[in-house]
Amino acid sequence: MPVPILLYHQIATPPFRKTPFRSMIVSPESFRRQMGWLKRLGYQGLSLRESLPYISGQKTGKVAAITFDDGFTNVYQNAMPILQEFGFTATNFFVSNQIGGSNEWDRPLGVLPATCMDISQIKQWLSSGHEVGAHTMDHAHLSQIPETQAFEQLSLCKEKLQEIVGDRVETFAYPYGDHNDRVRELVRQAGYIVAAGTERRRATGNDDLMNLPRLTIRRDDTWLHFVAKCLLR
Ligand SMILES: [Zn+2]
Repeated sequence: MPVPILLYHQIATPPFRKTPFRSMIVSPESFRRQMGWLKRLGYQGLSLRESLPYISGQKTGKVAAITFDDGFTNVYQNAMPILQEFGFTATNFFVSNQIGGSNEWDRPLGVLPATCMDISQIKQWLSSGHEVGAHTMDHAHLSQIPETQAFEQLSLCKEKLQEIVGDRVETFAYPYGDHNDRVRELVRQAGYIVAAGTERRRATGNDDLMNLPRLTIRRDDTWLHFVAKCLLR
């Protein structure tokens, strides 16, 4: 059965004033309700790596993959306790040069500053059963930079995260959902086995593992939007 791969960024109280990409900040209350919906619908929330056998059809069961991009501290603070409460696991995709830093790549777009998890928070994320995935060193636009630089962005990010995790990091998400044939090949060469993009539908065994589709959950999604994304897309 198709697996919804959910994509979140920040879990925090959204700012009052209109700021760019405010829709990417989902409140902790909405996030808890959405996890509640998954449970009620009989879904187990899993990290992307743990969902792979369900996507390929090796295992059967109602599974939703829960993913977060960018490694924000507010996911550690606000989402992790909720995931724990529901017994769900998730994947966070980290920008390796911003560990303990912030969303500097977002600033030129006018997005409000938000901090990224530091090493000890990443280790606790991991020891709580969650997965550490990679999102390049600098949140790079991979199709727009020279190939050698793109490869470095992929392989050095992987190395740095592996050092922290003490294990292999083989799950990747494209910053800005930006990729093409060449970029997907580089991701494979850098040693990743799965990469998530932003095509909006559920994943099946027919999907290219270098471009798994994901469903973005937005601040103003109602429960009906949320359930429809999980069940119908
Ligand atoms: Zn990102």
